[in-house]
Amino acid sequence: KVQEVREVTRIERIGAHSHIRGLGLDDALEARKISQGMVGQVSARRAAGIILEMIKEGKIAGRAILIAGHPGTGKTAIAMGIAQALGSDTPFTSIAGSEIFSLEMSKTEALTQAFRKSIGVRIKEETEIIEGEVIEIQVDRPATGTGSKVGKLTIKTTEMETIYDLGQKMIESLTKEKVQAGDIITIDKATGKITKLGRSFTRARDYDAMAANTRFVQCPEGELQKRKEVVHTVSLHEIDVINSRTQGFLALFSGDTGEIKSEIREQINFKVAEWREEGKAEIVPGVLFIDEVHMLDIECFSFLNRAVESDMAPILIVATNRGITKIRGTNYKSPHGVPIDLLDRLLIISTTPYENDEINQILKIRCEEEDVEMTEDALTVLTRIGQETSLRYAIQLITTAYLVCRKRKGKEVGIEDVKRVYSLFLDESRSTQYLKEYQQEYMF
Ligand code: ATP
Repeated sequence: KVQEVREVTRIERIGAHSHIRGLGLDDALEARKISQGMVGQVSARRAAGIILEMIKEGKIAGRAILIAGHPGTGKTAIAMGIAQALGSDTPFTSIAGSEIFSLEMSKTEALTQAFRKSIGVRIKEETEIIEGEVIEIQVDRPATGTGSKVGKLTIKTTEMETIYDLGQKMIESLTKEKVQAGDIITIDKATGKITKLGRSFTRARDYDAMAANTRFVQCPEGELQKRKEVVHTVSLHEIDVINSRTQGFLALFSGDTGEIKSEIREQINFKVAEWREEGKAEIVPGVLFIDEVHMLDIECFSFLNRAVESDMAPILIVATNRGITKIRGTNYKSPHGVPIDLLDRLLIISTTPYENDEINQILKIRCEEEDVEMTEDALTVLTRIGQETSLRYAIQLITTAYLVCRKRKGKEVGIEDVKRVYSLFLDESRSTQYLKEYQQEYMF
């Protein structure tokens, strides 16, 4: 029997890309200058928007995307923006080409795992009604900040049209009372009897948590009944791991999954296909992002060629900052180190280096994301550092400068904090310079 996996609670952390919430495009697919955490890189984002349309219309099968550009020009950010724009439960997996070479598993196993991590299975379940339990009825999210308590029904003027049609008739037939906008009703699940009628509100957030999965079902007898539809999305890889006898679900936490037998995957594919047919599950193709794709070798490229053809394939986005270079495992050179047959399938987007004001904006967004107050002057200095070293280095200085600022009991990061961390932590070119100068002492 194939076990199902409950979604593992994901800890919200401030990751390098946590400020990215989409591609920031308008309806005409034009890139807004600053939107959804995205800044600049307008033509790459516009191209990504067209790709997004292709994905939505199901026209991407057999193709993949290559983002070419210098380090730190937002290649990962754009790939992530595409995933975000596809929906909040769209899986996004990001790996570096070099990661797949390890002693623990073969290259193809590592790639298979990466692919299966990027394929979501949205599982729908209907929960049983427990006798005596109070049920909640809810339809749409309220337009304003008020909501319903779990186990109760709120009728608000804003969604009267929807809720009225669904609930009014049933409720009136049960209570013989007129229901007003804003009324809250508790209904006993066992008897369907309305036990309370009143008014009170809780926060929209609580409301959302319960409202999303709840719907009305009217029994043939005309009795009011409710079933709760619970939806959770897990990745195929998570289902694989849980069902692989040698690993068990604890491997999900350690990440130490080892190789998974192909019979297990076959069983799971079969089961998922069954769930799909029964309407219990649907596939959510996610995004697999492979950075430094030139690090893959010819065998990996053949694997990718085949894998993108599969009907369950995720959207494959690869990235590189190389021009013409050798394809690993061969003596041939090729653009981006990618063999021609794969290149042929790729839609290529390129990213360009950032202007000063774009770096400034990205740094500002990162400060907000990390809850760091910074003076304008300090931000100007940091922007300059970003311009001269790298955007990523400048981003890293935000948190470190903030810690230094806190140590001196300051509230706002000032120039002195930025200067301090700039001298404490070397960027790549200063570090290389340092090593060159002291080479003799390192190599004895
Ligand atoms: P590499 O080639 O080194 O992997 P990259 O091109 O993938 O680099 P990112 O990692 O996407 O670059 O960018 C570095 C940092 O800057 C990240 O924190 C990213 O979220 C942020 N960033 C880059 N471009 C943008 C942008 N256009 N808007 C907002 N944030 C961005």
